[in-house]
Amino acid sequence: MTPAAHHAAGPKRLELSFEFFPPKKPEQFAAFKDTAERLKAFAPDFVSVTYGAGGTSKDRSFAAVEILTQEVGLPTAAHLTCVSAACSATNDAIATFQTFGVRHFVALRGDPPEGPGTPYAPHPEGYTDTADLIRGLRRIDDFEISVSAYPERHPESPDWDTEIDILKRKVEAGATRALTQFFYDNDDFERYVEKVAAAGITIPIVPGILPVHRFAAVHSFAGRCGARIPPHLLPLSELSGEAHFEAAVDLAARQIDDLAQRGVSGFHIYTMNQHRLVSAVLKAARIFEGERTCCAARARRAAEEELNVADITPRPARSRR
Ligand code: FAD
Repeated sequence: MTPAAHHAAGPKRLELSFEFFPPKKPEQFAAFKDTAERLKAFAPDFVSVTYGAGGTSKDRSFAAVEILTQEVGLPTAAHLTCVSAACSATNDAIATFQTFGVRHFVALRGDPPEGPGTPYAPHPEGYTDTADLIRGLRRIDDFEISVSAYPERHPESPDWDTEIDILKRKVEAGATRALTQFFYDNDDFERYVEKVAAAGITIPIVPGILPVHRFAAVHSFAGRCGARIPPHLLPLSELSGEAHFEAAVDLAARQIDDLAQRGVSGFHIYTMNQHRLVSAVLKAARIFEGERTCCAARARRAAEEELNVADITPRPARSRR
């Protein structure tokens, strides 16, 4: 990576974030809280909670964010989409997240209710696109704002110039970090970061890592969001149970370590609400070994103690206010 691209690839110290989705059923919230408490032992810099496009999972997202901020005590970013919603409804959601102490949003356009691939049209009274949503957030308060990025291009992008231009517009509107769509070929990420740097964009581009919890599910999801499944993942399709688990851990840990060798120091883990898999990946990734940062030390200790979280003193949550 060129020095400029290296700069764009992330923070200069090890940063870790976890993405969760809100549980579908009320009875699943206890397990959700347990998952977050276990992963808290790895001292993430922040965690995030997804938001159904058009506010379809709004109440569940509110409940999940409330648990993370008020009960688990984690710095939490709320995802927020602007598709299919009037500005007033989006602003109401922002206000609700604020009551839970949220100071960080992952600002997104989202997909139309008919699903990815359906042509996007702004709501007549809504924010027109992600950059417009970011400006709306900035008018309300001085939030931290992260956005999406697509190392293999968003499926709707006609070309790379459009793709990079959309990111640039989001940065100009006030985004300070980009979290990428998951990918499995680090060369794709490196090429993307070079393009971003060449366009003069200097915010951290944090790779999104999706450990393969279930090959069939990831394969189908990748197809819908334009992510490639490279050949080195295909052996997973033949595996099940512990063999699949071990192979998935090995693949994700190697991906993280390879990115670290290329100069990347921030990682956004799509947890799929699975603490066992994520914990095993962080234990296996060499970047999290040693005493280089308190985060790394805690990660190693948590893994060694097989997530006996009661024995681990959590790092005080950093105030972003
Ligand atoms: P943007 O990055 O704003 O745009 C995506 C693409 O659309 C652009 O690359 C471009 O091709 C095209 N485009 C957009 N605006 C214009 C324009 N003005 N002119 C021309 N082309 C344009 N979805 C959810 O529903 N809920 C979530 O919580 C959620 N979280 C996500 C988190 C991450 C880290 C990522 C990577 C994705 C997430 N998504 C989520 C998926 C996302 O909503 C979809 O990928 C959606 O299709 C695009 O939203 P965006 O904010 O990424 O769009």
